[in-house]
Amino acid sequence: MTTGEFSSLAIDTLAGPGAPDGVVIRSDLLPPTTHGSNIRGIVDKNVWDALRIPVCSAAGNRCEVCGSQAVRNGRPSRPDCHEKWVFEFRDRRPVQRLARLIALCPGCHQVQHSGLARVQGREHEVIDRLRRLNNWTEAQAGQDLNRSSDRCMALDRFAWDLDLSVLRGRLIVNGYPDLYVPAADRARLGNSFFGTPRAGQAGFF
Ligand SMILES: [Zn+2]
Repeated sequence: MTTGEFSSLAIDTLAGPGAPDGVVIRSDLLPPTTHGSNIRGIVDKNVWDALRIPVCSAAGNRCEVCGSQAVRNGRPSRPDCHEKWVFEFRDRRPVQRLARLIALCPGCHQVQHSGLARVQGREHEVIDRLRRLNNWTEAQAGQDLNRSSDRCMALDRFAWDLDLSVLRGRLIVNGYPDLYVPAADRARLGNSFFGTPRAGQAGFF
């Protein structure tokens, strides 16, 4: 795949309210090579809390896509904080860049991890949400799931550098002052998916 071909896959899966085409959310799957190699995999819980709680508070503790109050076990709760990624090439080098942190209700969050939903037998919930929020037919929702699978497979052909520079001033990762971690270094920083211990290198100001 060339860089030009790749650009056609760089869609916004969380356009949210006001999306020009009316599609506020699309399914998404992260390539397996990046699973668990994220902020939560690198930093301790208290650091992650210091990042995620203000994001949720700024959103009024409501989902930034559908506007609903998160509910768990029948009680209002803080929404999830999702890492919204952009996959791009810089001088032909693959870069997974954190675009922003975004507050999502569990249902919209599940749409962003549609592969996990499928494994858990909850794909019908993803389809229902895609239909409801986008005014899609079931066929359109199914097509979007296929699109996200194709995109995931395409992305998985590359080893992605990690760019967390949007958090500059709020996060430090020792050894990476620009918050830019080459692909080859990601594994040793810790992984929340595979349970690799955090390297204890990260903190916050
Ligand atoms: Zn939502």
